[in-house]
Amino acid sequence: MNTVILDATPENISKCAALIRKGEVVAFPTETVYGLGANALDADAAAKVFRAKGRPATNPLIIHVADKSQIDAVAEVSDDARRLIDGFMPGALTLVLPKRGGVPDIVTAGYDTVAVRMPDHKVALDLIREAGVPVCAPSANTSARPSPTRASHVYDDLKGKIPAILDGGMCPLGLESTIVDMTKTPPKVLRAGAVEIDSVAEVIGDLDTEQVMVDTLAALKIPTNYVPKAELVFSAFYDNMSEVIARYYDSNVLTHGARPVIFCMNFNADKYGSRNVMLMGESVAEYAKLLFERIREAENLDYNLIIAEGVPMGGMGTTVLSRLIKLSGGKVI
Ligand code: AMP
Ligand code: MG
Repeated sequence: MNTVILDATPENISKCAALIRKGEVVAFPTETVYGLGANALDADAAAKVFRAKGRPATNPLIIHVADKSQIDAVAEVSDDARRLIDGFMPGALTLVLPKRGGVPDIVTAGYDTVAVRMPDHKVALDLIREAGVPVCAPSANTSARPSPTRASHVYDDLKGKIPAILDGGMCPLGLESTIVDMTKTPPKVLRAGAVEIDSVAEVIGDLDTEQVMVDTLAALKIPTNYVPKAELVFSAFYDNMSEVIARYYDSNVLTHGARPVIFCMNFNADKYGSRNVMLMGESVAEYAKLLFERIREAENLDYNLIIAEGVPMGGMGTTVLSRLIKLSGGKVI
């Protein structure tokens, strides 16, 4: 199959909406990462998403909507869920809710719950609205690769497997959505993501965050998210973090002939002298946005060791640390 990358013009959005209506899959930008979308009400179309990604059938898809009223068509919405929908949608918060009939089992991996999100991205919203159906969409990477934040990342992973990629430039947040399971009491955070957990708790009270820790720890045993082409390690957030990183860098060059690169905040770059660095911005939020992008860049430049600066715990720092733990399999220096 030939895969075309299409600029996100109104004409091309219409073309892709028509493909979705016909039961095809199309990659499209959202504010978090690129999604691989199909008609969520068509089991055969959803099956194509799993096939293209090599995604296990046990891993359910998130249903994307263009309008809050579309949520009520696929899920039962409680009062607390309604408050979160009103407070955070459109946005990077996914809610797991009791499923209504009409959503094929393949989409929810057989669960009687369904995950829904309304993306805060004009191209995604226009596409879903024109398709006229809710769109099930996981991240548009091959399973076990970093989530794609540019059309070219999708192309690298899925060329030949999908007909079209809508190119809307770089994803503004660059990190997946936060997922909260509203069918549990208290509601349970299933994934730390681009919306801070504390801001969700401010609206509906206490949340169960144990699963985030369990998943993060499980990744130490079975790395799930990322099959590294380059090994990734990260530093704890010490006062002398840059010295620890510089020493680790030099010893790996000397003893293993490694080709390392350091992921560092812009304001720390000078501390690494002539060593290879890639800049992660001025803030933890920018670090979060650039992480997957920089990993793919480092791979393309044939670095075989990524040494990432750690960030302080709390807020988006916690989300970034959970990704670094998963990406590295827990290799902290
Ligand atoms: P991705 O779209 O690749 O970022 O992954 C979507 C994630 O949403 C899955 O890996 C699940 O963790 C979660 N998810 C989707 N649907 C459900 C559901 N019905 N129940 C629990 N978790 C879900
Ligand atoms: Mg994913």
